[in-house]
Amino acid sequence: MLELHDCEQCTACDLALTRQRVVISRGAASARLMLIGEAPGAREDALGQPFVGRSGQLLDRLLLEVGLNPEKDLYICNVVKCRPPQNRRPKRGELTACRPWLDRQIDLVDPAVIVLLGATAVDSLLGIKTGMTQLRGQWLSWNGRSVMPIFHPSYLLRNPSTAADAPTALTRADLTAVQQRLCER
Ligand code: SF4
Repeated sequence: MLELHDCEQCTACDLALTRQRVVISRGAASARLMLIGEAPGAREDALGQPFVGRSGQLLDRLLLEVGLNPEKDLYICNVVKCRPPQNRRPKRGELTACRPWLDRQIDLVDPAVIVLLGATAVDSLLGIKTGMTQLRGQWLSWNGRSVMPIFHPSYLLRNPSTAADAPTALTRADLTAVQQRLCER
């Protein structure tokens, strides 16, 4: 069985050649909510923690707004644990190589609810390639868990409108639905 701390020495794909740090998780391993994103960026690579750059700070703000404490109420990670050069999308082989680590994290945390941040996470976990504009905010089911795809926070940074139908407001509404689902389960 994989031991998660061994992930720090993983060399199963070429991203090991360019990373500074393996970025495994942040938050509470006992949480009922798990958030899964794409891959670490520059700040995450430097600090060894996921979602600590600008997009992570925005995500934390939205989580707090809907009553979810990012350190206590959830566990957050990425489908790929090492930074792709120039923040390019992870390649298929990298996603495949890293999948056992993600599966181990899901086994250990055993979340009731999973939130998938962006298209790469959705494709990687569920094999669904439908655009996020259509998918976001919909409840799906995977291995007995409630799963909701939402926009990746970096998309919100690129589309900073505060309008009621803009990505940030839609994501706030999606996270509110997640918080309510957690209360029901
Ligand atoms: S990205 Fe995943 S599979 Fe590739 S070296 Fe890092 S931990 Fe290993």
